[in-house]
Amino acid sequence: MYFTDFGFDDSLLDGIDAMGYETATPVQEQVIPGIIAGRDIIAAAQTGTGKTAAFLLPVLHKLISQPHDAHKINAMIIVPTRELAVQITQTLEGISYYTSVSFIAVYGGTGGAPFANEKKALTSGVDIVICTPGRMISHLNMGYVKLDGLKYLILDEADRMLDMGFFDDIIKILSYMPKERQNLMFSATMPSGIRKLANTMLKNPLEVNIAISKPPEQIVQEAFLVYDAQKIPLVKYILQQKEFGSVLIFCSSKLSVKKLTEELRRSKFSANQIQSDLDQEQREQVLLDFKSRKLKILVATDILSRGIDIEDIDLVINYDVPHDGEDYIHRIGRTARAATKGTAYTFVSVNEQTKFLRIEKLLGHSVTKQAVPEQFGAAPSPGEHAAKPAGKRYNKFKRKK
Ligand code: AMP
Repeated sequence: MYFTDFGFDDSLLDGIDAMGYETATPVQEQVIPGIIAGRDIIAAAQTGTGKTAAFLLPVLHKLISQPHDAHKINAMIIVPTRELAVQITQTLEGISYYTSVSFIAVYGGTGGAPFANEKKALTSGVDIVICTPGRMISHLNMGYVKLDGLKYLILDEADRMLDMGFFDDIIKILSYMPKERQNLMFSATMPSGIRKLANTMLKNPLEVNIAISKPPEQIVQEAFLVYDAQKIPLVKYILQQKEFGSVLIFCSSKLSVKKLTEELRRSKFSANQIQSDLDQEQREQVLLDFKSRKLKILVATDILSRGIDIEDIDLVINYDVPHDGEDYIHRIGRTARAATKGTAYTFVSVNEQTKFLRIEKLLGHSVTKQAVPEQFGAAPSPGEHAAKPAGKRYNKFKRKK
Protein backbone atom coordinates (compact mmCIF):
# COMPACT_ATOMS: atom_id res chain seq x y z
CA MET A 1 0.00 0.00 0.00
CA TYR A 2 1.35 3.41 -0.96
CA PHE A 3 1.09 6.47 1.29
CA THR A 4 -0.86 8.31 -1.43
CA ASP A 5 -3.65 5.72 -0.89
CA PHE A 6 -4.41 7.21 2.56
CA GLY A 7 -5.34 10.60 1.08
CA PHE A 8 -2.64 12.44 3.03
CA ASP A 9 -2.00 16.13 2.47
CA ASP A 10 0.85 16.94 0.03
CA SER A 11 2.92 18.58 2.78
CA LEU A 12 2.84 15.26 4.66
CA LEU A 13 3.64 13.21 1.54
CA ASP A 14 6.72 15.41 1.02
CA GLY A 15 7.89 14.58 4.55
CA ILE A 16 7.28 10.86 4.01
CA ASP A 17 9.25 11.08 0.80
CA ALA A 18 12.13 12.86 2.53
CA MET A 19 12.21 10.11 5.18
CA GLY A 20 12.64 7.57 2.38
CA TYR A 21 9.46 5.61 3.18
CA GLU A 22 8.02 4.05 0.04
CA THR A 23 5.21 1.75 1.11
CA ALA A 24 3.34 1.36 4.38
CA THR A 25 4.41 -1.34 6.83
CA PRO A 26 1.73 -3.83 8.03
CA VAL A 27 0.98 -1.93 11.25
CA GLN A 28 0.65 1.30 9.27
CA GLU A 29 -1.72 -0.33 6.77
CA GLN A 30 -3.89 -1.59 9.58
CA VAL A 31 -4.08 1.36 11.95
CA ILE A 32 -3.88 4.48 9.74
CA PRO A 33 -7.37 4.14 8.16
CA GLY A 34 -8.90 3.42 11.62
CA ILE A 35 -7.26 6.49 13.16
CA ILE A 36 -8.35 8.70 10.28
CA ALA A 37 -11.91 7.38 10.75
CA GLY A 38 -11.78 8.45 14.41
CA ARG A 39 -11.53 5.03 16.07
CA ASP A 40 -9.75 4.31 19.34
CA ILE A 41 -6.94 1.79 18.79
CA ILE A 42 -5.19 -0.87 20.79
CA ALA A 43 -2.23 -2.24 18.87
CA ALA A 44 0.23 -4.95 19.81
CA ALA A 45 3.31 -3.87 17.89
CA GLN A 46 6.93 -3.66 18.86
CA THR A 47 9.76 -1.32 17.92
CA GLY A 48 10.88 -1.88 14.35
CA THR A 49 7.40 -2.38 12.91
CA GLY A 50 6.99 1.29 11.94
CA LYS A 51 4.53 1.90 14.79
CA THR A 52 5.71 5.48 15.44
CA ALA A 53 4.78 6.68 11.95
CA ALA A 54 1.58 4.59 12.23
CA PHE A 55 0.24 7.01 14.85
CA LEU A 56 2.14 10.19 13.90
CA LEU A 57 1.02 10.29 10.27
CA PRO A 58 -2.77 10.11 10.78
CA VAL A 59 -2.62 12.50 13.74
CA LEU A 60 -0.61 14.98 11.65
CA HIS A 61 -3.05 14.48 8.78
CA LYS A 62 -6.00 15.30 11.04
CA LEU A 63 -4.26 18.34 12.52
CA ILE A 64 -3.54 19.63 9.01
CA SER A 65 -6.95 18.89 7.50
CA GLN A 66 -9.31 19.68 10.39
CA PRO A 67 -9.76 22.99 12.21
CA HIS A 68 -8.05 23.07 15.60
CA ASP A 69 -7.10 25.69 18.14
CA ALA A 70 -3.42 26.60 17.75
CA HIS A 71 -3.41 28.04 21.29
CA LYS A 72 -4.20 24.72 22.90
CA ILE A 73 -2.48 21.38 23.29
CA ASN A 74 -4.11 19.20 20.65
CA ALA A 75 -2.28 15.89 20.97
CA MET A 76 -0.23 14.23 23.69
CA ILE A 77 2.10 11.27 23.27
CA ILE A 78 3.07 9.71 26.59
CA VAL A 79 6.15 7.45 26.56
CA PRO A 80 8.13 5.63 29.27
CA THR A 81 11.63 7.01 28.64
CA ARG A 82 13.54 10.07 27.51
CA GLU A 83 15.22 8.01 24.79
CA LEU A 84 11.87 7.10 23.27
CA ALA A 85 10.70 10.72 23.55
CA VAL A 86 13.81 11.83 21.64
CA GLN A 87 13.36 9.11 19.01
CA ILE A 88 9.70 10.00 18.39
CA THR A 89 10.56 13.70 18.25
CA GLN A 90 13.19 13.01 15.60
CA THR A 91 10.73 11.04 13.47
CA LEU A 92 8.19 13.84 13.92
CA GLU A 93 10.76 16.45 12.86
CA GLY A 94 11.33 14.55 9.64
CA ILE A 95 7.78 13.73 8.61
CA SER A 96 6.24 17.05 9.66
CA TYR A 97 9.00 19.15 8.12
CA TYR A 98 6.85 20.57 5.32
CA THR A 99 3.80 21.13 7.53
CA SER A 100 3.11 23.94 10.00
CA VAL A 101 2.38 21.61 12.91
CA SER A 102 4.21 22.56 16.12
CA PHE A 103 5.50 20.18 18.78
CA ILE A 104 7.65 19.98 21.86
CA ALA A 105 9.34 17.17 23.75
CA VAL A 106 8.87 17.32 27.53
CA TYR A 107 11.07 14.95 29.51
CA GLY A 108 12.98 14.93 32.76
CA GLY A 109 16.59 15.55 33.67
CA THR A 110 17.33 18.48 31.39
CA GLY A 111 17.61 21.36 33.88
CA GLY A 112 16.09 24.82 34.28
CA ALA A 113 16.27 26.39 30.81
CA PRO A 114 14.44 23.57 28.98
CA PHE A 115 11.86 23.50 31.79
CA ALA A 116 11.12 27.21 31.22
CA ASN A 117 10.92 26.57 27.47
CA GLU A 118 8.51 23.67 28.03
CA LYS A 119 6.44 25.83 30.39
CA LYS A 120 6.17 28.56 27.76
CA ALA A 121 5.00 26.12 25.05
CA LEU A 122 2.61 24.32 27.40
CA THR A 123 1.09 27.64 28.48
CA SER A 124 0.72 29.25 25.06
CA GLY A 125 -0.35 26.06 23.27
CA VAL A 126 1.46 23.60 21.01
CA ASP A 127 -0.07 21.08 18.60
CA ILE A 128 1.72 17.97 19.85
CA VAL A 129 3.44 17.26 23.18
CA ILE A 130 5.69 14.22 23.52
CA CYS A 131 6.30 13.58 27.21
CA THR A 132 7.40 11.21 29.94
CA PRO A 133 4.81 10.85 32.75
CA GLY A 134 6.90 12.24 35.64
CA ARG A 135 7.89 15.44 33.86
CA MET A 136 4.34 16.03 32.65
CA ILE A 137 3.03 15.65 36.21
CA SER A 138 5.60 18.25 37.39
CA HIS A 139 4.19 20.74 34.89
CA LEU A 140 0.57 19.84 35.64
CA ASN A 141 1.19 20.35 39.36
CA MET A 142 2.20 23.97 38.66
CA GLY A 143 -1.28 24.69 37.32
CA TYR A 144 -0.51 26.37 33.99
CA VAL A 145 -1.05 23.40 31.64
CA LYS A 146 -4.46 23.44 29.98
CA LEU A 147 -5.49 20.16 28.47
CA ASP A 148 -9.10 21.14 27.78
CA GLY A 149 -8.55 21.22 24.00
CA LEU A 150 -6.88 17.82 23.83
CA LYS A 151 -8.19 15.72 20.95
CA TYR A 152 -5.68 12.89 20.61
CA LEU A 153 -3.96 10.86 23.31
CA ILE A 154 -1.30 8.30 22.43
CA LEU A 155 0.29 5.90 24.91
CA ASP A 156 3.40 4.32 23.40
CA GLU A 157 5.13 1.27 24.88
CA ALA A 158 2.29 1.12 27.38
CA ASP A 159 3.48 -2.22 28.82
CA ARG A 160 6.85 -0.68 29.66
CA MET A 161 5.17 2.28 31.33
CA LEU A 162 3.23 -0.08 33.59
CA ASP A 163 6.41 -2.09 34.33
CA MET A 164 8.08 1.15 35.38
CA GLY A 165 5.23 1.93 37.78
CA PHE A 166 3.62 4.78 35.84
CA PHE A 167 0.00 3.52 36.08
CA ASP A 168 -1.10 6.10 38.68
CA ASP A 169 0.72 8.93 36.91
CA ILE A 170 -1.05 8.11 33.65
CA ILE A 171 -4.45 8.01 35.34
CA LYS A 172 -3.65 11.38 36.92
CA ILE A 173 -2.66 12.95 33.57
CA LEU A 174 -5.83 11.53 31.99
CA SER A 175 -7.93 13.24 34.68
CA TYR A 176 -6.96 16.64 33.24
CA MET A 177 -8.22 15.74 29.77
CA PRO A 178 -11.66 16.11 28.23
CA LYS A 179 -13.62 12.83 28.10
CA GLU A 180 -14.30 13.26 24.37
CA ARG A 181 -11.01 12.46 22.71
CA GLN A 182 -9.42 9.82 20.50
CA ASN A 183 -7.19 7.31 22.32
CA LEU A 184 -4.44 5.27 20.73
CA MET A 185 -2.56 2.67 22.72
CA PHE A 186 0.55 0.83 21.51
CA SER A 187 2.18 -1.95 23.45
CA ALA A 188 4.68 -4.70 22.58
CA THR A 189 2.89 -7.17 24.88
CA MET A 190 -0.65 -7.35 26.26
CA PRO A 191 -0.45 -8.39 29.94
CA SER A 192 -3.56 -8.08 32.14
CA GLY A 193 -2.54 -4.63 33.44
CA ILE A 194 -2.65 -3.33 29.88
CA ARG A 195 -6.10 -4.84 29.34
CA LYS A 196 -7.26 -3.09 32.53
CA LEU A 197 -5.90 0.26 31.38
CA ALA A 198 -7.42 -0.29 27.93
CA ASN A 199 -10.82 -0.99 29.47
CA THR A 200 -10.79 2.25 31.46
CA MET A 201 -9.41 4.34 28.62
CA LEU A 202 -10.61 3.08 25.25
CA LYS A 203 -14.04 3.17 23.64
CA ASN A 204 -14.87 0.30 21.28
CA PRO A 205 -11.24 0.11 20.14
CA LEU A 206 -10.01 -1.33 16.88
CA GLU A 207 -7.67 -4.16 17.87
CA VAL A 208 -4.55 -4.73 15.82
CA ASN A 209 -2.01 -7.42 16.44
CA ILE A 210 1.24 -7.42 14.53
CA ALA A 211 2.70 -10.78 15.43
CA ILE A 212 6.37 -10.99 14.64
CA SER A 213 8.06 -14.33 14.34
CA LYS A 214 11.74 -14.76 15.10
CA PRO A 215 14.19 -16.52 12.79
CA PRO A 216 15.57 -19.86 14.00
CA GLU A 217 18.61 -19.39 16.25
CA GLN A 218 20.86 -21.70 14.25
CA ILE A 219 20.94 -19.44 11.19
CA VAL A 220 24.24 -17.62 10.79
CA GLN A 221 23.24 -14.13 9.65
CA GLU A 222 25.78 -11.77 8.09
CA ALA A 223 25.58 -8.65 5.96
CA PHE A 224 27.80 -6.86 3.43
CA LEU A 225 27.63 -3.12 2.90
CA VAL A 226 28.11 -2.82 -0.88
CA TYR A 227 27.80 -0.61 -3.94
CA ASP A 228 25.37 -1.98 -6.53
CA ALA A 229 28.19 -2.71 -8.98
CA GLN A 230 29.86 -4.97 -6.40
CA LYS A 231 26.86 -7.26 -5.95
CA ILE A 232 27.29 -9.68 -8.88
CA PRO A 233 31.06 -10.19 -8.37
CA LEU A 234 30.41 -10.72 -4.65
CA VAL A 235 27.75 -13.39 -5.29
CA LYS A 236 30.19 -15.25 -7.55
CA TYR A 237 32.97 -14.91 -4.99
CA ILE A 238 30.80 -16.30 -2.17
CA LEU A 239 29.70 -19.24 -4.32
CA GLN A 240 33.32 -20.05 -5.13
CA GLN A 241 34.50 -20.06 -1.51
CA LYS A 242 32.73 -23.20 -0.42
CA GLU A 243 30.85 -26.13 -1.86
CA PHE A 244 27.23 -25.24 -1.03
CA GLY A 245 24.48 -27.79 -1.66
CA SER A 246 21.43 -25.67 -2.44
CA VAL A 247 21.52 -21.90 -2.64
CA LEU A 248 18.55 -19.53 -2.83
CA ILE A 249 19.11 -15.93 -3.92
CA PHE A 250 16.32 -13.38 -3.46
CA CYS A 251 16.15 -10.20 -5.51
CA SER A 252 13.51 -7.51 -5.16
CA SER A 253 12.96 -7.04 -8.93
CA LYS A 254 12.59 -9.49 -11.79
CA LEU A 255 15.12 -7.43 -13.73
CA SER A 256 17.80 -8.23 -11.14
CA VAL A 257 16.71 -11.88 -11.14
CA LYS A 258 17.18 -12.09 -14.91
CA LYS A 259 20.50 -10.25 -14.94
CA LEU A 260 22.04 -12.19 -12.06
CA THR A 261 20.90 -15.57 -13.44
CA GLU A 262 22.38 -14.72 -16.83
CA GLU A 263 25.70 -13.73 -15.27
CA LEU A 264 25.87 -16.85 -13.12
CA ARG A 265 25.10 -19.11 -16.05
CA ARG A 266 27.74 -17.35 -18.12
CA SER A 267 30.23 -18.19 -15.37
CA LYS A 268 29.10 -21.85 -15.58
CA PHE A 269 27.20 -21.99 -12.30
CA SER A 270 24.22 -24.34 -12.14
CA ALA A 271 21.66 -21.53 -11.81
CA ASN A 272 18.10 -20.85 -12.89
CA GLN A 273 15.36 -18.37 -12.06
CA ILE A 274 11.79 -18.00 -10.89
CA GLN A 275 10.01 -14.72 -11.57
CA SER A 276 6.58 -13.64 -12.73
CA ASP A 277 7.43 -13.51 -16.46
CA LEU A 278 7.68 -17.30 -16.51
CA ASP A 279 4.46 -19.29 -16.87
CA GLN A 280 3.29 -21.68 -14.18
CA GLU A 281 4.64 -24.77 -15.93
CA GLN A 282 8.13 -23.28 -16.33
CA ARG A 283 8.19 -22.23 -12.68
CA GLU A 284 7.15 -25.65 -11.50
CA GLN A 285 9.85 -27.32 -13.58
CA VAL A 286 12.55 -25.04 -12.15
CA LEU A 287 11.29 -25.68 -8.64
CA LEU A 288 11.29 -29.42 -9.25
CA ASP A 289 14.88 -29.31 -10.56
CA PHE A 290 15.90 -27.34 -7.50
CA LYS A 291 14.17 -29.64 -5.03
CA SER A 292 15.68 -32.71 -6.66
CA ARG A 293 19.10 -30.99 -6.50
CA LYS A 294 19.58 -31.15 -10.25
CA LEU A 295 19.77 -27.37 -10.01
CA LYS A 296 22.04 -25.88 -7.34
CA ILE A 297 21.30 -22.18 -7.38
CA LEU A 298 17.84 -20.69 -7.61
CA VAL A 299 17.44 -16.95 -8.13
CA ALA A 300 13.94 -15.67 -7.34
CA THR A 301 11.78 -12.71 -6.52
CA ASP A 302 9.72 -12.68 -3.33
CA ILE A 303 7.09 -15.06 -4.74
CA LEU A 304 9.17 -17.82 -3.23
CA SER A 305 9.85 -16.42 0.21
CA ARG A 306 6.54 -17.28 1.89
CA GLY A 307 5.08 -20.66 2.47
CA ILE A 308 6.94 -22.83 0.01
CA ASP A 309 8.63 -25.63 1.83
CA ILE A 310 12.01 -26.40 0.36
CA GLU A 311 14.16 -28.46 2.67
CA ASP A 312 17.87 -28.35 3.30
CA ILE A 313 18.96 -25.06 1.82
CA ASP A 314 22.51 -24.23 2.87
CA LEU A 315 22.68 -20.62 1.90
CA VAL A 316 20.22 -17.78 1.36
CA ILE A 317 21.51 -14.56 -0.20
CA ASN A 318 19.39 -11.43 0.00
CA TYR A 319 20.69 -9.67 -3.09
CA ASP A 320 18.59 -6.67 -1.97
CA VAL A 321 17.34 -5.82 1.52
CA PRO A 322 13.78 -7.16 1.85
CA HIS A 323 10.99 -4.63 2.25
CA ASP A 324 10.28 -5.39 5.90
CA GLY A 325 11.30 -7.56 8.79
CA GLU A 326 8.65 -10.18 8.15
CA ASP A 327 9.91 -10.64 4.57
CA TYR A 328 13.45 -10.92 5.88
CA ILE A 329 12.45 -13.59 8.37
CA HIS A 330 10.52 -15.51 5.71
CA ARG A 331 13.42 -15.32 3.29
CA ILE A 332 16.14 -16.49 5.67
CA GLY A 333 13.73 -19.03 7.15
CA ARG A 334 14.25 -21.03 3.92
CA THR A 335 17.55 -22.12 5.40
CA ALA A 336 18.29 -23.94 8.67
CA ARG A 337 15.03 -25.85 8.47
CA ALA A 338 14.56 -28.91 10.64
CA ALA A 339 17.45 -28.03 12.93
CA THR A 340 20.14 -27.90 10.25
CA LYS A 341 22.57 -25.01 10.35
CA GLY A 342 22.18 -22.51 7.52
CA THR A 343 23.75 -19.25 6.46
CA ALA A 344 22.02 -16.06 5.34
CA TYR A 345 23.91 -13.16 3.74
CA THR A 346 22.28 -9.82 3.05
CA PHE A 347 23.68 -7.24 0.64
CA VAL A 348 22.96 -3.76 1.90
CA SER A 349 23.46 -0.92 -0.57
CA VAL A 350 24.00 2.69 0.50
CA ASN A 351 20.34 3.70 0.31
CA GLU A 352 19.12 0.47 1.94
CA GLN A 353 20.88 1.07 5.26
CA THR A 354 17.85 2.61 6.99
CA LYS A 355 15.67 -0.26 5.83
CA PHE A 356 18.17 -2.77 7.18
CA LEU A 357 18.46 -0.90 10.47
CA ARG A 358 14.71 -1.29 10.87
CA ILE A 359 15.01 -5.04 10.32
CA GLU A 360 17.80 -5.22 12.90
CA LYS A 361 15.57 -3.36 15.38
CA LEU A 362 12.86 -5.91 14.78
CA LEU A 363 15.29 -8.79 15.27
CA GLY A 364 16.42 -7.15 18.51
CA HIS A 365 20.12 -7.33 17.56
CA SER A 366 22.47 -6.09 14.87
CA VAL A 367 23.64 -8.44 12.13
CA THR A 368 27.41 -8.97 11.84
CA LYS A 369 28.89 -6.95 8.96
CA GLN A 370 31.47 -8.64 6.75
CA ALA A 371 34.08 -6.69 4.82
CA VAL A 372 33.82 -6.80 1.03
CA PRO A 373 37.02 -8.51 -0.27
CA GLU A 374 39.65 -5.97 -1.35
CA GLN A 375 39.76 -7.06 -4.99
CA PHE A 376 36.27 -5.53 -5.50
CA GLY A 377 37.49 -2.04 -4.58
CA ALA A 378 36.42 0.21 -1.72
CA ALA A 379 33.03 -0.56 -0.19
CA PRO A 380 30.70 2.13 1.19
CA SER A 381 31.38 3.27 4.74
CA PRO A 382 28.62 2.75 7.33
CA GLY A 383 26.19 5.68 7.38
CA GLU A 384 27.28 6.86 3.92
CA HIS A 385 24.30 8.58 2.32
CA ALA A 386 22.97 8.40 -1.19
CA ALA A 387 22.49 11.88 -2.69
CA LYS A 388 19.10 13.36 -1.74
CA PRO A 389 16.97 14.72 -4.58
CA ALA A 390 17.59 18.45 -5.14
CA GLY A 391 15.20 20.82 -3.40
CA LYS A 392 14.31 18.47 -0.54
CA ARG A 393 15.40 19.74 2.82
CA TYR A 394 15.23 17.30 5.62
CA ASN A 395 15.51 16.83 9.32
CA LYS A 396 15.81 20.43 10.40
CA PHE A 397 14.62 20.77 13.94
CA LYS A 398 11.38 22.67 14.28
CA ARG A 399 10.09 23.69 17.66
CA LYS A 400 7.32 25.90 18.85
CA LYS A 401 8.81 29.37 19.45
P1 AMP B 1 9.45 2.15 14.78
O1 AMP B 1 8.88 0.77 14.81
O2 AMP B 1 8.42 3.21 14.79
O3 AMP B 1 10.53 2.32 15.84
O4 AMP B 1 10.19 2.33 13.35
C1 AMP B 1 11.37 1.66 13.02
C2 AMP B 1 12.09 2.31 11.86
O5 AMP B 1 11.35 2.14 10.65
C3 AMP B 1 12.30 3.81 11.98
O6 AMP B 1 13.66 4.06 11.64
C4 AMP B 1 11.36 4.42 10.96
O7 AMP B 1 11.86 5.63 10.46
C5 AMP B 1 11.30 3.35 9.90
N1 AMP B 1 10.02 3.33 9.13
C6 AMP B 1 8.78 3.54 9.60
N2 AMP B 1 7.87 3.38 8.62
C7 AMP B 1 8.52 3.06 7.51
C8 AMP B 1 8.12 2.77 6.16
N3 AMP B 1 6.86 2.76 5.78
N4 AMP B 1 9.10 2.46 5.26
C9 AMP B 1 10.39 2.44 5.65
N5 AMP B 1 10.84 2.71 6.89
C10 AMP B 1 9.93 3.01 7.82
